[in-house]
Order: sequence, then structure tokens, then C-alpha cells
Amino acid sequence: MVAGLTPDGAAAPFDPAACPRLIVKVGSALLVDPAGQIRREWLASLVSDIAARAKAGQQIAVVSSGAIALGARRLGLAKGGRASLEDAQAAAATGQIALAGTWATLLHDHGLTAAQMLLTLDDLEDRRRYLNAAATLDRLLKLGVVPIINENDSVATEEIRFGDNDRLAARVGGAAMAQGVVLLSDVDGLYTANPSTDPHATLIPRVDHVAAVEHMADRHSASGMGSGGMVAKVEAARIAVVAGAHLAIASGHPMHALARFSETGRGTLFVASNAAPARKAWLRGGLTARGTIHVDIGAIEALRAGGSLLAAGATRVDGRFARGDLVVLVGPDGRQIARGLAEYGDADAALVVGKRSEEQATLLGYAPRSALVHRNHMALL
Ligand code: GLU
Repeated sequence: MVAGLTPDGAAAPFDPAACPRLIVKVGSALLVDPAGQIRREWLASLVSDIAARAKAGQQIAVVSSGAIALGARRLGLAKGGRASLEDAQAAAATGQIALAGTWATLLHDHGLTAAQMLLTLDDLEDRRRYLNAAATLDRLLKLGVVPIINENDSVATEEIRFGDNDRLAARVGGAAMAQGVVLLSDVDGLYTANPSTDPHATLIPRVDHVAAVEHMADRHSASGMGSGGMVAKVEAARIAVVAGAHLAIASGHPMHALARFSETGRGTLFVASNAAPARKAWLRGGLTARGTIHVDIGAIEALRAGGSLLAAGATRVDGRFARGDLVVLVGPDGRQIARGLAEYGDADAALVVGKRSEEQATLLGYAPRSALVHRNHMALL
């Protein structure tokens, strides 16, 4: 049981050893040593933790970084393979095969079967592909296989990349309907300030509202090897908790890092909110909003009362989006109110903004839709 996570000594809500489905994310700096070799002994100790749980009936998927770091070394590329997108893609393609092979061998030593899933951002942002990936993941987990997941860095271009595996792990947690996500990292949690520069920085053991700590996150990862950093971890927490999964950041440095976290509870736990219906959680966790629709105060009230966004309540449209793309609805003070799927592309949306339905047909030249964003395809933030 995770101890020490609640200041008042109340029972901790998340035991990574006990939740039926768990996602474990492993950062590059843990997996790959500075000389560019896999830290095999360390990894074997983590795999034995995973195997012990899998044998006890827990379903575990791993999100493993390290492909770029590993491949860069093998190819002799500068800046850990991150000097250019082409370098990162070549490094990832080279490193991934070795990385996956090592996971498979070590899991096999415990009688477990590994499977590889390489995902791009679009695989999880497009609803149909998301459901497809979720179904594959579900089948693998039910078969007792341990999926080893990474971003498909060798094909993903800059605009369509997660770029960090923290947010990928959180999105995978939502897709797998996991109860918990553990980010094993080169830092042991979220601090009140950057612990490397501020001696008064203290570890925050538990966070109930992600928005309250967003300003504490620092952009840089301690090792300079991965690309996550604390901003990505807090963003990952936001995605996980709305999908109903607890997310913990814990140090991956010790041997048997997962068992160790389970015993000590040292880290930062972001507590899941009540799981939103799956579709709403998917909408809220979406990363690639293509546009913004600005709305007036009256529209905000209507949205909060469960209504759709009507054209009459919108004031302006920004960005390039097609019908069905994810857009953010923003109030007059610039605060995000909701996310949802646009009923119109940006050009037609701009035509009908602020207009009543009688005028819309003339402007569009066809029968208007009932809303700019329908309530069934919208999640309030
Ligand atoms: N997908 C990258 C890799 O395998 C890691 C991304 C990250 O640093 O989070 O190398």
C-alpha cells in the first residue's frame, strides 16, 4: 500500500500494486546510460516487479522511452539524436528495435509475452483510430500480454508528435481505461520550486486539483536525455485524472523502482477525478485543438446549463479547422470553457458567428446545422 501520500494519514486512494490495470512509463535517462547502452540490470529489476504483478493478475502496459537516446549513440549522432527531426527519426528507428527486443527478452525470462505498439498523436486524437488502438490494447491486456508502447517517432513529424512519452502514457491510460499511471522518472516528484536551484523547494506528495500546481512545473528534464520535463508531466496528470486514472510521478532511480514506489509511496500523486464518460474524457484530453471559437457570457451560461454552442452565442473564430476537428471554446476573459468537435469548418463557422438561424441559411447557401458545437460532442473544462 502506498503510505504517506495523505498528510492526514487517511487511506491512500491509489495502490499501484493493486489496481487492475496499470500503465508504467519509463523515461530515457533511466533506461539508457550516458554511454548509450541499455541499463540492463536496472531494467531486469523493473521487469521482475512487473512480472510479479502480472502473475498476481494485474494487467500492465509499459510506455517505454529510450529509442532516440539508444539509436543516437549507435549512429554517432550529436545532441542525443535531437539536433534535427531527421536525426531523431533515424535514431528512433534504430533504437526502437533494440529497445523492444530487450524488453521482450527480459519479460520472456519470466514467462511473459511482450507486444509492441508504436503510436502517433493522430492515432489517439482521431476518434475512430483511438477506438481501434484502445481495442487492440484491451485485447492484448486481456490475453496477459505486456504491451510495450512508444511514440512512432520515425514517422511522426513535428506538428503531429506528442514529443514526450509522459502525455502519451496518460493518453494510453485513458484508452486502456487504466486506474493508474506511474511515471518513473529521473525526478522523484513535483516540487514547490525547482529543487536544483532552490534549497527551499519541497516535494508535493498529493495534488487534488491539477490547475492549482500548473505554475510550479519547470520545462527542463534533469538529465537532458528525454524530452518530458515537468510541464509535460503535469499536462499528463491533467489528461489522466479526467480519464479517471490516478497518476504518480516517482523516482525510477532505485533498483526495483516500481516495488519501491509501492512500498514507500514517495512521489507526487495526482488524484483522479470521478471518471468522466469515456468520450468526454477523450475530448478533454485532446491535445491538438485546431481552432478557437470565442463565445459571449450568455453562451457560457447556456453551455454550463448543458446546452450546445449556438452560432448566436459565438463572437469570433480563430484557426483553420474542418468539420469534426477539435476546437476550444473560450470566454470573453480568455479562459477556456469547453472543448468539442466543430460542426462547421472555420470558413462557414466564421460566416454564421453571431447570427440567428434565419440569417444563417442565406449566408451559407444551405440549411444550417443546429449548433456550432453540439453538446453531445463537447466537454466542459
Ligand atoms: N519517444 C522517445 C523515445 O523513445 C522519448 C520521448 C520522451 O523523451 O518522453 O526516445
